[in-house]
Parts: sequence; structure tokens; C-alpha cells
Amino acid sequence: MPLLKIATLGEPVLRQRARELSKEELSSSSTQAFIDDLIATMHDADGAGLAAPQVMNPVRICAIEVRPNNPRYPYKPPIPLTVLVNPVLTPLSNETFANDEGCLSVIDLRGTVHRCVHIRVQAWDRHGVDVDFEAKGLAAGTFQHECDHLDGKVFVDRADPTTFTTWKNWERHHKAAFVARATALVQRFGG
Ligand code: ZN
Repeated sequence: MPLLKIATLGEPVLRQRARELSKEELSSSSTQAFIDDLIATMHDADGAGLAAPQVMNPVRICAIEVRPNNPRYPYKPPIPLTVLVNPVLTPLSNETFANDEGCLSVIDLRGTVHRCVHIRVQAWDRHGVDVDFEAKGLAAGTFQHECDHLDGKVFVDRADPTTFTTWKNWERHHKAAFVARATALVQRFGG
């Protein structure tokens, strides 16, 4: 499985609305091979998720998986491998939480984004089967981040620019406070 090139900020593909797929297109061998490559690229880059526009393909597909002890996000509770096609997210709460986010398409930058704490996720899986589930806490933030990419949005659009930090300075100055917030969310919602 070839690894795909990850688009970085400034690539126009990151700023366009990705298009829906039909079931016929989803079931094609080329789309199925693309999904395999998307997952392999996410794993190789230690991402918590990767959306098709991030690998230069503007279609509404994203993959999400948080393995235990992900080196980029060791505080995130595990999320099993999930492929969403044509996803629709619906907020189930007005409450938000302050999520410190990074992105494989934004080199060496993190920032704080306020995300809905509880969402409903409706989509097809990679085989065109309906999925419908709820996500809470940090996992809800991960789904919102990835689905934003399908609408041409990047976390920097939603973050207060005064929270921007390099990864090194995040580790040095901001990690402890965020891990305390994250731990409280994990205790509240499980993981
Ligand atoms: Zn991203």
C-alpha cells in the first residue's frame, strides 16, 4: 500500500468543500484501495485521523483511529478504526470544551479550539452500510476536526490565534493544563 502525500496548509485542496460519493463509486476497487492507502498513511504519520482532502483527494471520506499510547496524542482515549463516508454531525449539547488541537496538514502548530462535547455521527462505513452513533468528550472533538476538513475548514480557522503554539512550547508551557482538562473529560465520559 503506497503512502499518500499529505497536503499542508496553503494547498487549495484543503480549502474546498469535498464532494459526496455515490455507493457505486464507494464500492469501486479504486475507492477501496484509496481507503486502504488513507488508513496506512494515517498510521505512518501517527495521526488520530486523516481526511481525504488532506491527501489531495476532495471526497467526503475520513478515517479516525486512536491507538493506545499514540506518540502525538498520548492522553487521548483509544478510538477503534472508523471510516466515515459522507458523514453528518449533529450537536447534542450546547456545552463546549477547550481542545488543544494539532493537524498533520499544519506543521508544528497547535491551538485551542472550542468543540461540542457531545455529538451524533451519521455516515456510511467503507462498505456503504449506515452507521449512527454518539461521541463525547475528546473523541467528539476528533470527529469534529476530521469532518471540518471535508468542508474546507482547518483548526486554525476556529482557534483563538493567541493560543497558537509550537509543539515544543506546547509541551513546555501548555501540556500540563490541557492534560488536566483532558483527564477530567475522560473521567466524565469514559474512553
Ligand atoms: Zn487535521
